[in-house]
Amino acid sequence: MKYNKHKKIILAIDGFSSSGKSTLARAISKKLKYKYLDTGAMYRSIALLAIREKVFNSDLWNIKKFIHLLKKTFQVKWNKKINEIELFLNKKNVKKSEIRSIEVSKKVSFIAKIPDIREILTSIQRNFGVEKGIVVDGRDIGTTVFPKSELKIFLKSSIEVRSYRRYQDIKKTNDNIIYDEVKKDLIYRDIMDINRKNSPLKKSVNAIEIDNTYLNIEKELNIINNLLINKIK
Ligand code: C5P
Repeated sequence: MKYNKHKKIILAIDGFSSSGKSTLARAISKKLKYKYLDTGAMYRSIALLAIREKVFNSDLWNIKKFIHLLKKTFQVKWNKKINEIELFLNKKNVKKSEIRSIEVSKKVSFIAKIPDIREILTSIQRNFGVEKGIVVDGRDIGTTVFPKSELKIFLKSSIEVRSYRRYQDIKKTNDNIIYDEVKKDLIYRDIMDINRKNSPLKKSVNAIEIDNTYLNIEKELNIINNLLINKIK
């Protein structure tokens, strides 16, 4: 595969929950030696903070106070070794297994619809893209965060395939996980993400849609490689 090493682009990968965005994004970033930015992990870390602070236990949630706490405790650092972000709450590294849990998954879309939180995270995400050479995955990357990105991909796959992938993923750290619970969570999150007022999950007009229900990662990578060759020349 021939790329122009001197040209750097932003690759935006949006799509439904568990449609394989991060697997794809990570593989491409390794191949191109680009940075990889997992924006879902950022929203998930904030949901974890909110759970820890017990904000969902009360109807009287003081958002202003929470935002203040978020600004004080949430940190995103670049790990040059792996070319990915590391997330911190109260200076403690946020574990992947903690933010990928079903408890966090159930709450994250409530967090993601709060405009003040989106504003803070969007600004952090844009800063990482200043020098380009980055693969970013999420829900609003092609529409809001990097609307001028050179290549935009929109991923989808059947709810069964997505639920099974997610179920397998969670099962690695939680033996008690129930498939139907995972599926219900995905359907619920899809609805929340599509219908929120602020930066909803939506295919950008110039995004290329890929349905990977029957595609393996190699085939998917082939498709993307062909698209990239035209963009990075
Ligand atoms: O990609 P992941 O499943 O980890 O994202 C978790 C949740 O974070 C999504 O369901 C969505 O509510 C929110 N999110 C978002 N915008 C992004 C990335 C994630 O609203 N760019």
